[in-house]
Amino acid sequence: MSQQNPLIIDVHGHYTTAPKALEEWRNRQIAGIKDPHLVPKVSELKISDDELRESIESNQLKLMRERGSDLTIFSPRASFMAHHIGDLQVSSTWAAICNELCYRVSKLFPESFMGAAMLPQSPGADPKTSLAEIDKCVNEYGFVAINLNPDPSGGHWTSPPLSDRHWYPIYEKMVELDIPAMIHVSTSCNACFHTTGAHYLNADTTAFMQCLTSDLFKDFPTLRFLIPHGGGAVPYHWGRFRGLAQELKKPLLSEHLMNNIFFDTCVYHQPGINLLTEVIDVKNILFASEMIGAVRGIDPQTGHYFDDTKRYILSTPHLNDEQRYQVFEGNARRVFPRLDAALKARSL
Ligand SMILES: [Zn+2]
Repeated sequence: MSQQNPLIIDVHGHYTTAPKALEEWRNRQIAGIKDPHLVPKVSELKISDDELRESIESNQLKLMRERGSDLTIFSPRASFMAHHIGDLQVSSTWAAICNELCYRVSKLFPESFMGAAMLPQSPGADPKTSLAEIDKCVNEYGFVAINLNPDPSGGHWTSPPLSDRHWYPIYEKMVELDIPAMIHVSTSCNACFHTTGAHYLNADTTAFMQCLTSDLFKDFPTLRFLIPHGGGAVPYHWGRFRGLAQELKKPLLSEHLMNNIFFDTCVYHQPGINLLTEVIDVKNILFASEMIGAVRGIDPQTGHYFDDTKRYILSTPHLNDEQRYQVFEGNARRVFPRLDAALKARSL
């Protein structure tokens, strides 16, 4: 597409509107952790293509059409990943089910959705146990990214930092497949942290700082992390992070992190996008709405949905047409090469 008329690629959408049968199956699976007689078979989950179609057409696709976005990178509902529940077996079965549903959505609406995988993470489990699911999702399902949860404990932070060798098997697989990871926690089971209001944003900030204090991207120069929700507190406190890097004798952030870390635009108000686009290089900003997600209401100050983030990109004074093209399309093609290849295969 041209700079005047970019493809609008939303790099952060979740299947939050799956048919009720999914939640009912999950509730039975959770009940089965205490009483194995209650564990449902995977085959007992029955969701038809028509049900999938209806759940998408009346929700995400409807809003995409209304707001004028073309394509969403679509992953399972983040808060429902709940990696802290049960053991690796529970998470593996659950991840496979959720990923398959996103795959089916991407087959039903190939123009509008491409998948990103949730991983079968579990507290204490070796990240190697996620590799088979990544391979399947990328090679068989055509997914273009993964969501990596830096805290499978759900708010207790019992895993090593993202810079630790603990995570390297995942990074090696990402490099091999040339896919990025969105760093995305799930529901908080720590009463101190509200899931979407605190835990998500804490995790975004925490992930950035874990990378800052390390030399992770020396080991993996092509590794790419998308830090969602506008990068948490990072852009707002950019001077703090630059100053900390300086004190720690790290290179400038532009070299140390910003060839590898990207932020989305899920900030939900104009002044936030103005700040993001003023502080952070355009090449590091990718359009996203996280729709339909955490904040579903209408902003009484504007009369528009908080998560209708396209209008903030169009209105910010800090971007020209070429830069808007990068935010809406160009950067996504670069950060998600498999998405770019799939679009090119369709002559887009
Ligand atoms: Zn999300």
